[in-house]
Amino acid sequence: MDPLTAYLIVALMMLLNGGVLGLMHRDLSPDVQPSAISWRIGTLLQAGGCILLGVQVYLPPLFVLPLANGMVMLGIAGCWRAVRQFYGRPDSVVVVLPTVFATAGIAWFAGPQPDLAARVVIATLAWSVMLLAAAGTLLQAIRGERARSARVLAGIFGLLAVFMLLRGVYFVFAPPLASSIVDTRSWINALTPMLASVLPVIGTTGFLLLCSDRMRRRWEQAASTDDLTGLANRRTLAAAGALRLRQAREDGVALAVAIVDIDHFKSVNDRFGHEAGDLALQHVAAGLRAACGRHHLLARQGGEEFVAVLTVNDAQTAVAVAEQLRNAVRAVPFRHGGTVLSLTVSIGVATLQPQDRHLDDLLRRADTALYAAKRGGRDRVVAAGTG
Ligand code: GH3
Ligand code: MG
Ligand code: MG
Repeated sequence: MDPLTAYLIVALMMLLNGGVLGLMHRDLSPDVQPSAISWRIGTLLQAGGCILLGVQVYLPPLFVLPLANGMVMLGIAGCWRAVRQFYGRPDSVVVVLPTVFATAGIAWFAGPQPDLAARVVIATLAWSVMLLAAAGTLLQAIRGERARSARVLAGIFGLLAVFMLLRGVYFVFAPPLASSIVDTRSWINALTPMLASVLPVIGTTGFLLLCSDRMRRRWEQAASTDDLTGLANRRTLAAAGALRLRQAREDGVALAVAIVDIDHFKSVNDRFGHEAGDLALQHVAAGLRAACGRHHLLARQGGEEFVAVLTVNDAQTAVAVAEQLRNAVRAVPFRHGGTVLSLTVSIGVATLQPQDRHLDDLLRRADTALYAAKRGGRDRVVAAGTG
């Protein structure tokens, strides 16, 4: 295939990919849309640059070479910017600097001092810097957000940088018998349009996966956690609690649940307003979470009521953990404006019994114990009977 056809086909594929991204744009969540726009502009710039690279022999080199290369490089900068935006990095002039310097260099080695190898080296360096920087941003972000799609995209950026560097080295150490990158006498020129298409074509798929991965995780997060406190919600409690119960049965170990209810919470709302009540709920949730650690499962069951599924060896330990929860809330008063408010909780604890079939069986007994704790004067832990 002659390079002109190759560049035009590659540009067409890029345009189609950009088009697909455009069609999907409205289905993306608003937080990833700015990044998707940058990626799309990047793709279109690379397509435009590839068309110019393909038709370069018909146009004056001093005009077409800097313009074509500049467009392709600015397109790569667009993809780099998209990755940065995706992870909330601020805009930076650094993103366009490689393109600016490299375009000036290419103009010099296209007009006053024509030199193909020098142009290739300059473009290679600019590409590599941007590609590796984008891969770096992705790899850094992966630590916080474990998305496989981010690894794939970082791999695409990294591999492309390696291929571009190898191509650059080839041009320096084994200068091909070619006057331009569309000269058919050099086999490496057949490779170049393919390399140029990697990011806008395969990379766009990776980028869309990255977006959908984030959106899926956001939905999962929203569906499984309580908005106000960030704790597991009732639904997660039911699912994870059932799992822990089955595991405890299989392993023949104990399991307990503690229902934690804030005392006289209605009066907090009545005295300080609903907003302060919400803050107080968050405060208690944070105290309970810290006291629970990672070992036990803590959820907001609803209202001012929490449930802790305790992985413990026996009933005494369950009561001891519940006492720790109660003390954790007592120990740190809630401060709002100038007011310091000591909140307390009552806790009902039930331990797994042979006749228990569902988590609800335990919760029912814990609820009876909680009722007893309230009747007994509040700010206390009561263990349920075994019946
Ligand atoms: P007790 O010691 O018997 O538990 O008394 P209480 O006042 O805590 O219990 P009651 O069930 O009478 O009142 C619970 C209150 O919790 C009523 C409701 O306004 C408040 N509440 C429930 N959910 C929320 C919430 O999400 N935000 C706020 N601010 N208040 C809530
Ligand atoms: Mg209450
Ligand atoms: Mg209650």
